[in-house]
Amino acid sequence: MPAAFLSRPMARRCPECYAELPDDAIWVCPTCQYTLRTPGSAKAGIVFMLLGLALLGVFVYGPENLGLNSGIMPTELANLTIANFPLLVVGVFGLGAFLAAAAALKIRSEQARVAAA
Ligand SMILES: [Zn+2]
Repeated sequence: MPAAFLSRPMARRCPECYAELPDDAIWVCPTCQYTLRTPGSAKAGIVFMLLGLALLGVFVYGPENLGLNSGIMPTELANLTIANFPLLVVGVFGLGAFLAAAAALKIRSEQARVAAA
């Protein structure tokens, strides 16, 4: 039995088309371009976008109703947070969208690389 076979008892297969995956196929399947692995930044991006939506909900509800002024944080910081709340919402959501877009671009470029190979 060849040693190379022993060191890799099971070839990885694409869950979509069952083609054997070469070792360098990490992100996309070279046969059907199925996305094998979701970049961590995509997951982080989704979390941030959900957080942004949650913050947007808080903003609609009224950040001054959160009880930030009840003493859990310094009044100045609470007022600053309330004053800059729209910025916070846009910032968190924008960061999430950016991370998700970066992940999508990563997959897109890997697909292009595989298609060109
Ligand atoms: Zn495949």
